Amino acid sequence: MRREKANKIIDLLYETHPDAVCELDFTSTYELLVATVLSAQTTDVSVNEATKGLFAVANTPEKMIKLTPNEIRTYIKTLGLSNSKAGYVYDLSMALLERFDGEVPTSMEDLTSLSGVGRKTANVVRSVGFDIPAMAVDTHVKRLANRLGFSKTENVLIIEEDLKRQIPKYRWNLSHHLLIFHGRRVCKARQPECGNCSVQSYCKYYKTQVK
Ligand code: SF4
Repeated sequence: MRREKANKIIDLLYETHPDAVCELDFTSTYELLVATVLSAQTTDVSVNEATKGLFAVANTPEKMIKLTPNEIRTYIKTLGLSNSKAGYVYDLSMALLERFDGEVPTSMEDLTSLSGVGRKTANVVRSVGFDIPAMAVDTHVKRLANRLGFSKTENVLIIEEDLKRQIPKYRWNLSHHLLIFHGRRVCKARQPECGNCSVQSYCKYYKTQVK
């Protein structure tokens, strides 16, 4: 896809979703990191409900490791994979204290060395927490990138590179939120609302599968 077309798609998505932002609640990069780890395979709304209680008692690595993994789990038990996630939160909090002076690191290498932190989570923390240009590829971004013609693969690493090559760097962080909002609200996995879609005339999927 040419950059001109990519820019047009992002312009139109921005007109449709001017409110597109990270929907996780957080007041620090540490809270953002924990919330993003907890958000795997669940909704941001559920994570926000769970972290309200958790962050009231433990909003720093120091306070978090005063809880046991099992105590952490009691706050997040409504989320899927709560056992593993509680362990991740405990372990990453300990690692922050032992290796990073209690601060959330900014590099991809350091972030992905933390328990439960993959490339997608690291990219969210880098872009939302530190305003570093990054392109986090979650399930919505993956689907939209393929439907709109930015990419032709299920490989998230290649999708990330495809998006970064076609979208100007200064728009990466915004584009990530726009693709997620469009995926949640319009271009849903099972029944995309193509008749109500602002980027329909640019959409490869619409032209080849729907029209
Ligand atoms: S036209 Fe349909 S498939 Fe294409 S982006 Fe819009 S909702 Fe998704």
